[in-house]
Amino acid sequence: MPQPAAVGRDERTVLFLLERATAYLAERGAASPRLDAELLLASALGVDRLALYLRFDARPPTDKVDRFRELLRRRGEGMPVAYLTGKREFWSLEFEVTTDVLIPRPETETLVETALAIWPPGSGQAGWFVDVGTGCGNLAIALAREWPLARFVAVDRSAAALGVALRNAAKHGVGERVFFLCGDWLSAFARRPLFVGMISNPPYIGAADFASLPAEVEREPRAALDGGADGLHFFRALATGASCLVREGGWLLAEVGAGQAQAVRSIWEEAGFRDIQVRRDLGGMDRVVVGRRR
Ligand code: GLN
Repeated sequence: MPQPAAVGRDERTVLFLLERATAYLAERGAASPRLDAELLLASALGVDRLALYLRFDARPPTDKVDRFRELLRRRGEGMPVAYLTGKREFWSLEFEVTTDVLIPRPETETLVETALAIWPPGSGQAGWFVDVGTGCGNLAIALAREWPLARFVAVDRSAAALGVALRNAAKHGVGERVFFLCGDWLSAFARRPLFVGMISNPPYIGAADFASLPAEVEREPRAALDGGADGLHFFRALATGASCLVREGGWLLAEVGAGQAQAVRSIWEEAGFRDIQVRRDLGGMDRVVVGRRR
């Protein structure tokens, strides 16, 4: 809704466009309307978000304002900002995203932190790692940047997702150490313990929880979210996979959903993993479970 305070002001300035867009998105229930408006305006203008602050009084050309309005309209209909701008930051790196991939979440950085606690960046870790369900490649790529000698196999069953991941790996200069494999979960691997570590942010939404997901999440690929009837299907599959593919003493690390940590701990204990630990994210939620292969 146009703000009364705006009457009489120049309708074409960056500041005015931002204020009006923020009100429009707030009215449509966006959780962070000002930030969304800034990201979309920056995208329409082809500048980065902070550059907007240096040009509040500028009047963008009509074609760019039209482009901004179109982005706003789609945002107002519930399309996530990252799909509209085609990018999302993760681990301070900019990743290309499309509707073929899950949008990386800040809490998933807990998985990167956990991996770095096990294998500190300066440790010269040169082994092979596997990232299961790589999506846009964020986990394998972030870790490949931290461990300059390590190599990764990044698996996804979606060829379209791997196309995005491949471009992200090249963009971040790790294309020669991250190998992409299109396959159904771990079915393509010979049963040999090749890997030092297995990392995954698997689909973990249970059937009962789909109904209560925020509408925006419905725009994301269902295959990246659906964890089977109880949401735990892929944690069992990870335990089975890691038992064959991870070396003795190597680690399995996975992100878990709300309330799943204890169930995952039990599944992994039963599968024979030891030294199981649960780590919290910045919001204080149990977020990552790690276990070591005997
Ligand atoms: N590895 C990606 C991420 O962590 C994708 C995960 C997925 O699709 N479930 O965001």
